[in-house]
Amino acid sequence: YYNENTILYFNGEYVKASEAKMDLYGQSLHYGYAVFEGIRAYKTASGEVKIFKGEEHFDRFRRSCELIHIPYKWTNQELIDACYKVLELNGLQEAYVRPLVFCPPNMTLKAAQEAYVMICAWEWPAYLGDKLIRVMTSSYQRPNPKAFKIESKSAGLYINSILSSEEARAKGFDEALLLDAAGYVAEGSSANVFFEKEGKIYTPPPGAILPGITRATVIEICAELGIPLEEKLFTVDELKTAEAAFYCGTAAEIIGWESIDGHKLSKPFADSLCRVIQQAYKAKVIEKAFKREEAQVA
Ligand code: PMP
Repeated sequence: YYNENTILYFNGEYVKASEAKMDLYGQSLHYGYAVFEGIRAYKTASGEVKIFKGEEHFDRFRRSCELIHIPYKWTNQELIDACYKVLELNGLQEAYVRPLVFCPPNMTLKAAQEAYVMICAWEWPAYLGDKLIRVMTSSYQRPNPKAFKIESKSAGLYINSILSSEEARAKGFDEALLLDAAGYVAEGSSANVFFEKEGKIYTPPPGAILPGITRATVIEICAELGIPLEEKLFTVDELKTAEAAFYCGTAAEIIGWESIDGHKLSKPFADSLCRVIQQAYKAKVIEKAFKREEAQVA
């Protein structure tokens, strides 16, 4: 992720990653009381490097902090500018950008009075690879919205993601699918889920999921391409009757499913609407025009 030349942004300054320091006596390290974002920068069709959906990511960054009472004093513009500067200082074009808010020394369980921000970046290929994935229903549920502010992209919440994705890998699958407390499909360990059936796309509504920026982009793409989409609760049994499905997230981008719990989805991904959406997403992040007809021919 970094070497001796890597520069990161820390509280208004650009410093060497190898020299940046964090206090060991803090709530962020001890209790996971921190908030992060995951953003991607792309080299667009015009050749310019652009951060995809920067405003949306920093709006969520602020909201994530507010939901768990971490003071947030930055503007979107100053942090977006810092992202571009970090990319430039490290000579990065296509990169994953990771902002993190954490708290100064304090071992109590009182809400933070002050917070720090850092932004780092590194080259990161699509997180779940580029081959269709085999997904397993997890024995772990997504955290209960009554036990946590699950719409906050909080560090501590990701222990659930580590446990569930590790369980899936240990059982020979690529990724986990987590249900909500009522047994409906919620999301993956780091991605939102969509499926296709009879010409229509479905995804769980907000409530027990992280409101993904990529999820919002997929909804936008479906509207632009005239693909019918419905947000609704569904079970794993219903998902098994899907023709195709995918996970989407900033790190994973859009990655198709081969199977769920060993049950193969019925349509070849290459012939699915999911594939059209995947191609439209690839075009959108690099600001390239996209026509649905082209994808179907391809
Ligand atoms: N759900 C979870 C649990 C995640 O960690 C992520 C990744 N941030 C997503 C969904 C997808 O969110 P986004 O599209 O904003 O990256």
